[in-house]
Amino acid sequence: MNLRETTFGEFLKPSQIIFELKSQDKLEAIEELLDSLVKQKLINNKDLTLTRIVDRENLESTALGHGIAVPHARVDTENQIAVAVGRSPVGIDFQAPDGQPVNLIILVIWNPTIPGLFNHLFAGLARFLIKPENRYRILNARDKNELYAVLSEIHFSFPREDKIINRASLLKKLQDIEIRMRRAPKDKLEELQKHRNLIREDLDQSLLARFDLLMERYGYAVAEVVDGACRSCNMSVSTQMASAIEESNDIYVCENCGKYLIAPRKERVTKEKAEKEKTGKEKPAIKAKAKKAGETATRKKPARK
Ligand SMILES: [Zn+2]
Repeated sequence: MNLRETTFGEFLKPSQIIFELKSQDKLEAIEELLDSLVKQKLINNKDLTLTRIVDRENLESTALGHGIAVPHARVDTENQIAVAVGRSPVGIDFQAPDGQPVNLIILVIWNPTIPGLFNHLFAGLARFLIKPENRYRILNARDKNELYAVLSEIHFSFPREDKIINRASLLKKLQDIEIRMRRAPKDKLEELQKHRNLIREDLDQSLLARFDLLMERYGYAVAEVVDGACRSCNMSVSTQMASAIEESNDIYVCENCGKYLIAPRKERVTKEKAEKEKTGKEKPAIKAKAKKAGETATRKKPARK
């Protein structure tokens, strides 16, 4: 994939670091950080952002263990990402999985127009913070500048904006994980669950509600469009639609079977084409249309199989 390499320094300025948080309570500390973002005009809706962050915290603590927490929310912001870092020398109770108080809070607010962004940001943070020597340097920085210097080393690989993961492929990823979870051994389950929750945070509630319904009913919710036909029901999709599915970030739904439609991965298409040429067989495709999901609010629910 075409990636853009960057560091935490692109989003974090020294002014976004509070070296000694006054608050000793989780909620107050988050508010203290949000206030500093409001003051710097990096966010404009403190109440909404706070509500989103608290909702997320109530779902599951964002403390990673080892004294670090990454509270976050997906909110419309002026910028793509707004971050603030707060250090608490005394430590704050974050209901961390390891029971340790949190000494460093990395608060992340990101814009919903860029799906997948938080996943990549979080992956970069996790890669850096998993190393004990990095955590030691962060937690033992002597002043704000030293802390800023260490945090600036954190490295991210983002998909380029034109190559940004679209929502349909996030749905596909979510489906793959949820299918794997059905048969996963206990020791793998927790990791899959974490990954699943990260992806779900990047998708709208309405998309997820339909996704869950389809998963429950059929065991899967996303179908590839191969050779112009929906893989789930074999109905053909118009050429225009098929190319739109490949290129846009809009969500399309098969009008016949109700599955979310996604463009297949390139390499697989090539392989299948080659196989088809070998056998000379081709599945007949029946005519049907596909629509954008937003236009299908009134369409009938897919019938039970
Ligand atoms: Zn279909």
